[in-house]
Amino acid sequence: MAGFRSLARQVRDPGCDTALRRYSLRKCLERFAPYGHRATWDHLCRRHGFGPEDREADPSRLVAALDELEAARTVWLAYEEEFAERRRREKHGGLRRPGGLDEWHRRIWGGNGVARCDDPAHHPAEPLPEVVGRLVAALRRGPGELCPVCAGPHIEWRGGPADEPWFGPACGDCGVLIPRAVLTPRALARTRGVVPARLASVA
Ligand SMILES: [Zn+2]
Repeated sequence: MAGFRSLARQVRDPGCDTALRRYSLRKCLERFAPYGHRATWDHLCRRHGFGPEDREADPSRLVAALDELEAARTVWLAYEEEFAERRRREKHGGLRRPGGLDEWHRRIWGGNGVARCDDPAHHPAEPLPEVVGRLVAALRRGPGELCPVCAGPHIEWRGGPADEPWFGPACGDCGVLIPRAVLTPRALARTRGVVPARLASVA
């Protein structure tokens, strides 16, 4: 299976025909697609002005879309490396963390679906490196009350508590599913319409 970098080379290769270059760009999304495959494709098509089914898309637009995707991947992989290094140090020092964040990282290792959008047409409009950078900043900062991507307050619960244990809260404004680890217990409880009794006094 071709890796991201060899697929990226094909997208940039003027010797390949346009249909293959476009196909290779789509294949890149199987390796790295911050919003999930369909929503990330929708985002790239809109931002770079080619149709989702356009087999004759201007190759320079395909390359611009790849540049954006690749820049976001660089941001994410740098964070993953930093995260892995920190966990190694912590484990060495005997520090255990609650399972949530580690499990989430395991699931999205490589960055695929790091800011998954359920609805392929509802996702942030900003460039991907900007969005991934905001999520990384939130992961570094620790739990907060607002959406880590758009800072919106309209966080809602999607799906039942039993399915996809690490994905539940979603932003009603920008559409991304929010890792539970970047929300405070109070923000999480609010998305489910409950404020736990021990927190009610400070609510
Ligand atoms: Zn948002």
